[in-house]
Amino acid sequence: MGDGGWVVSLDFPEQPDRWNPRRGLPCEGFFSPIYVLKNRLEENWCQCHLADQHLFQLLEKVDADLTEQKRQEGCLLCGGTLHRSDYDRKPRGGPQWDTRFSLCCARVGCRRRHTPPSVRFLGRRVYAGLVVVLVSAMIHGLKPPRVQRLREVLGIDRRTLERWRQWWLGLFVGSSFWREARARFMPPLCPKTLPLSLCLSFAVEDRRDRLLDLLRFLAPITTPTAWKELVN
Ligand SMILES: [Zn+2]
Repeated sequence: MGDGGWVVSLDFPEQPDRWNPRRGLPCEGFFSPIYVLKNRLEENWCQCHLADQHLFQLLEKVDADLTEQKRQEGCLLCGGTLHRSDYDRKPRGGPQWDTRFSLCCARVGCRRRHTPPSVRFLGRRVYAGLVVVLVSAMIHGLKPPRVQRLREVLGIDRRTLERWRQWWLGLFVGSSFWREARARFMPPLCPKTLPLSLCLSFAVEDRRDRLLDLLRFLAPITTPTAWKELVN
């Protein structure tokens, strides 16, 4: 199945109370994200999340719920009934998932595919979304030998990490999603330390539900239509 012809809206999920201003962090200085990371977090929280089987199951369940929501909306083009039409997708980086949930219009003559937002897959990235987020966050605060160790543990090559870093600081920061979403964080998040500043704002370091909130927040960019804006 190709990538063409997907129709999914770039709507924000309703998340009224997730942006607690007190969780925001200043961009620089003594309490900068990097200072906090080095002194409080180390790399443990990242690796705990990345080995958390319960989290993987929870994310799969959330994706199933997002898919069911989308299914109930029906086809955006013709109003037809949507049926499940999942496709193979095995992300790297830990979780044993093997399908991305998707939908297809049942009406003859339309048959349009609708792929819902996901908390597991970040667009077309081959690594699971949480790996891309957490590892990209970690490398902001670590010395090179530790980055290397992390890469070895997770089997991620140097160029991939660098590509992720440039993506967060470039295409992500410039995206219409972020331009709208960033206004919800007060004080503003430091764009230079994304996604670490985002992780700290959501306080993901020791809470599974907070990481889930963060992945839900990013879910609108994971659909094939939204992702087009986020690739070179
Ligand atoms: Zn249709």
